[in-house]
Amino acid sequence: MKTNDQVQNIKERIKEGFETLLSISSSRRKFLTFAGKTIALFSALPFLKFTGNHANAATVSPKAPKTMVNLKGGNYILLKNGFIVDGSGKKGFNGSLLIHDDRIEKISTSEINAAGRIIDCAGLVIMPGIIDAHSHMDWYMPIQGHNELKLPFTGQGVTTFVAGQCGYGVAGFRKNTTFINKISRGIINPLPIEWDTMGQYFDHVKRNGMTHNMMTLAGHGTTRTSIRGFNATPMNRDEMKEMLALLERSMDEGAAGVSLGLQYEPGIFSTGDELREIAKLVKRKNKLLTVHLRAYSALSPGYPMSTPKILLDYVSPFDGYEPHNLLAMDEMLNVARDTGVRLQISHLIFVGTRTFKTCEDGLKRIDRAIKQGVDVKFDTYSYHCGQSIINVILPAWFLAKVPGAYNDKKMLSKLKSELGLIQRFLGFGTKDIQITYANSEELNQYNGMFLDQIAQKRSMDWFDNAMDIAQKSKGVANVLNHSYSNLPIIETLMRHPASLFMTDALPAPRGVQNPAVYGNFPRFLQFAREKKIISLEEAIYKMSGATAERYSIKNRGFLKEGLAADITVFDWKNIRDNNTLIETSKTPTGIEAVFINGKQVLSKGKVDAAIKAGKIIV
Ligand SMILES: [Zn+2]
Repeated sequence: MKTNDQVQNIKERIKEGFETLLSISSSRRKFLTFAGKTIALFSALPFLKFTGNHANAATVSPKAPKTMVNLKGGNYILLKNGFIVDGSGKKGFNGSLLIHDDRIEKISTSEINAAGRIIDCAGLVIMPGIIDAHSHMDWYMPIQGHNELKLPFTGQGVTTFVAGQCGYGVAGFRKNTTFINKISRGIINPLPIEWDTMGQYFDHVKRNGMTHNMMTLAGHGTTRTSIRGFNATPMNRDEMKEMLALLERSMDEGAAGVSLGLQYEPGIFSTGDELREIAKLVKRKNKLLTVHLRAYSALSPGYPMSTPKILLDYVSPFDGYEPHNLLAMDEMLNVARDTGVRLQISHLIFVGTRTFKTCEDGLKRIDRAIKQGVDVKFDTYSYHCGQSIINVILPAWFLAKVPGAYNDKKMLSKLKSELGLIQRFLGFGTKDIQITYANSEELNQYNGMFLDQIAQKRSMDWFDNAMDIAQKSKGVANVLNHSYSNLPIIETLMRHPASLFMTDALPAPRGVQNPAVYGNFPRFLQFAREKKIISLEEAIYKMSGATAERYSIKNRGFLKEGLAADITVFDWKNIRDNNTLIETSKTPTGIEAVFINGKQVLSKGKVDAAIKAGKIIV
């Protein structure tokens, strides 16, 4: 029978194909073309089987058939002949993808026949829209206009933010809190807060339109602040009950879990009991607990310090004391072990040249925990500088007495010797801290300069200068810290199976930008291509599917029929981060198209500012 002949014919071609595959040793490009063809053949097989007993089977061509789509009306966009990497980590394949309104209608290795716009993706990669796994954009989303603060993320292919990190939740406050001023100055210049609950916040941003999709966490820091400000004493029972109830309500209204910021006020004051209560709550809600650890450096002002031990350590590394960043990691791994909460360690970094060598040990602790059944992952960016606020260098004992401490000679002298010791033995200090936005009229002229340069310009001692900026900015001068890691560490973290990719980038309204605002994800892809640290498919998984799985985002993160049409198209051969050490606001090369919920928001590197296609993800 003719049909059987055709089946036989196809089987032979597959066999031929496998033989070719086995003998293949040539270029990846050849393999990809071959893989595409093989998949096309496989997809033809079930079709033949299904129609095998029907008379019209004779009309089937041995070539891959065209996929017909029943058009239903609405808006169709066909991304034709690209290399489809679906976000699952599986090997990519040549094919086409059809968008229908806000959904992915069809993905096929053969040609798709459909009316509507056609975008030729030959030579380009089609991937799920990038999910930024660690973001603070919940604070920017309510700002009207100021596209320059949001659209650079679109420019690098981001379609979704997971915001509310590091304890800085944007909502979930005690009604009529008297501490609203302390909350609103957390991230960006005072933002008028016209909401208390997460639900009210979501309504607010939805009403005004959103440039991106967004999921948020309830922030332990801001919720706690709304109850008792920056009071450093342990919480009483009623306060704890109220805080847990507010965090629970935020999660019930759609927050993805709770974030902790243990290096900032007021998270820095939280006790082990408090952390366990929060972890138990998050576990009960089946959500995720994320943590900005108490320390990211071997020597951290958050821990008691003894000069003789540090000096001993200098002669014989880590004999004198346990590196503080590893203690901080253990603290949270133990919370996860004890409570069973799913834990996400935020922006894993190893600050200061002396901390670099703790990376291996840190990862071992994570691996050991995973083996013991702890559900822990971490996130990482592609640069070795990162953003923070100036208060991050101040210890809890000092912050607990602020603002009085700024004028207390005894406390200042103790602090100066501690910070001096850290600078000297850690390999991180005021020479590494760049003020991006001083948050003070008097000091904004120094935006972009490093603390040591500013001290020189003001003819001030390094310590007095740093304290003056901390005090006048009320602790929240925006800084970009350098020596946060080094390139080998970034590569190690990229490769680690538990890492997710993120920016942690806060766009600066003035002054110098964090390069991650513009080039973070292209830089990851560039590293994957040039240094072959991980495959294209793995890199994409860590910026889409893996993050969707981690945060239980149900209908995004993958290219799959029926899911939301969040899609990024880029040129794998040419994708490149264009930032340099001095120029940090450069648009990347190679992002060709971005779709958010089926709406094209970027075309050939140019963002359409008018489109507000984002949604709240709960
Ligand atoms: Zn953080």
